[in-house]
Amino acid sequence: MRLDTDPYLERYAARVRGMSASEIRALFAVASRPEVVSFAGGMPDTSALDMDAVEAVVAAVIREDGATALQYGGGQGRAQLRELLVEVMHHEGVPGHTDDLVVTVGGQQALELIAKCFVDPGDIVLAEGPTYVGGLGALASHQADVRHVPMDADGMQVDLLEDVLDELEAEGRRPTFVYTIPNHQNPAGVSLSVDRRHRLAELAETRDLLLVEDNPYGLLDFDGKTFPSLRSLVPDRVIYVGTVSKTFAPGVRTGWIAAPRPIRDKLILLREAGDLCPSNLTQMIVERWLATQPWREQIERFQAVYRTKAHTMLRALAHEMPAGISWTVPTGAFYVWLTVPRGIDTSDLLAKAINHRVAYVPGRGFYADGAGGEQARLCFSYPEVERIEEGVVRLGELLHEELALVHAVFGDDAPQVRPRATGRATGLGG
Ligand code: PMP
Repeated sequence: MRLDTDPYLERYAARVRGMSASEIRALFAVASRPEVVSFAGGMPDTSALDMDAVEAVVAAVIREDGATALQYGGGQGRAQLRELLVEVMHHEGVPGHTDDLVVTVGGQQALELIAKCFVDPGDIVLAEGPTYVGGLGALASHQADVRHVPMDADGMQVDLLEDVLDELEAEGRRPTFVYTIPNHQNPAGVSLSVDRRHRLAELAETRDLLLVEDNPYGLLDFDGKTFPSLRSLVPDRVIYVGTVSKTFAPGVRTGWIAAPRPIRDKLILLREAGDLCPSNLTQMIVERWLATQPWREQIERFQAVYRTKAHTMLRALAHEMPAGISWTVPTGAFYVWLTVPRGIDTSDLLAKAINHRVAYVPGRGFYADGAGGEQARLCFSYPEVERIEEGVVRLGELLHEELALVHAVFGDDAPQVRPRATGRATGLGG
């Protein structure tokens, strides 16, 4: 049996054969060492939770209704929890009704179920470029043909979406759905402008589109502002995905889908085929958290924590980055999207970065087509404030060195970084 190839390769389903882990995955094992400041994983700062309150909630669930918590539940998720999740949606101005919701194992399972429900091999799905790694993973596992729509500081460029739709129409094709993260996007750190939301909703009507609105970060605006959701504009054309991962805790793995009823029914059947039901225990913990704790104040606390961290990172970037490097300026959530000058490939640079004791996610992970070689995602939500400064100093030193090297070799004429296939960089905690 050869060890350099997978001896089981021919036995896998066709959709699994082409799957591979990214080469950067191995580097992330090193990046989790304590001396490395990691801007890689998209992890919330769970230390901002009141742990005494969490402990009391968990204990009360077992003490007061342990037998139910440890039992199987229904495939749609508990009605009591769905009612409370509707309140969370309303807090952000998103319309919803208890019956519309399916509780999922985080937003990630929601995305996987949606892909399973709609995508046949080769179907076209349109998504922002860049887009969420885990969304790409879910789509790839159903062999979607993902085409990207470019973004700018106002989110997806909806006029370019129209161009893509025209091109597809000329080929006699149409997208299965459009996947979008309108609020504080992962990884670009920008939000879709209000005008573009209206234009996208209008396009959904005139071009008969289905939209998947993935919204983990809508309540994490640094000033507590909210945007109109696509679901509020064209509810029959939107499959909405929510999660408590960023507003409470990812460890409880609780998300949800709000969908038109026929779609909701299919999703329940698909989830029952996969895992029967969500965990009653974690659902009841979330339920009790939302029913008995000041969760709105907790969200404000998260907003303040991330506001401070974002400002720290932005100040440090302004101070430490060499000329020619640009980045987005987030108004909420976790991410800064960095663009480096020609001649530097962020995938190749990562090993050196880790030697400099700082880590990021190279941009290619966020594209299905190998683009993103000159970009990187910096996530500021998890490291402590002082570590953020230190990490940016280290990254600045590395980029200064690297630019000097590029300049010594190519002068002012460095080659453009080429698209290159990469495996999936999943398992980064968002
Ligand atoms: N969508 C986006 C855009 C995300 O960034 C994440 C997590 N980082 C998810 C979905 C999934 O989150 P979870 O499964 O923890 O709810």
